[in-house]
Amino acid sequence: MTDTLEKIAEEVRACAACELHHSRALGVPGVGPANAEIMFIGEGPGFHENQQGQPFVGAAGDYLNELLQLIGLSRQDTFITNVVKCRPPGNRDPLPEEIEACKAFLDRQIVLINPKMIITLGRYSMARWFPSARISKVHGQARRMGGRLIYPMYHPAAALHQPSLRPLLEEDFRRIPELLRQVDSIAEAAEDEEPPEEQPRQLSLF
Ligand code: URA
Repeated sequence: MTDTLEKIAEEVRACAACELHHSRALGVPGVGPANAEIMFIGEGPGFHENQQGQPFVGAAGDYLNELLQLIGLSRQDTFITNVVKCRPPGNRDPLPEEIEACKAFLDRQIVLINPKMIITLGRYSMARWFPSARISKVHGQARRMGGRLIYPMYHPAAALHQPSLRPLLEEDFRRIPELLRQVDSIAEAAEDEEPPEEQPRQLSLF
């Protein structure tokens, strides 16, 4: 049977593969068009997301909307999801076994949407592609992997807590349109290659 985003969403809402389902009000599969060129992957639903079943609808979501406006995009132009689809209690970090239990949902979403660019928000989604990278070093450096760009960024919530990160996040956001235009001319990175740690800004297109 053909896979669809709606089928994945139904499975998420009924999933009991890890402990997080016990405290779930609503599962948060993700939202956006199946042909989105950009896919954002955050960490996991927070309080408001758990209540509404939608990703990034709290303060971090408002800031994400503002960041999208900076480059003339709206949420509806992108697919937005998380590494884990149910809220970790008290907004704690997701555990490795929870991320693993949820991984197949994200894998299937990536296959179906086949985005040109995956933007990882925060270290939990970054770690899937760059397991030992430090976000402070590699944010804003896109790598082409498996035919698409993986672009690590700070999480909007981190920039809300630490205002000094806001200009960095905004600068990284402003580079999205140009990177999207260049996806096809950027060379593929080696399988296990992480972004170099001290990359000068002007050399960060590959
Ligand atoms: N933070 C996330 O990582 N995801 C959300 O959906 C909301 C806040």
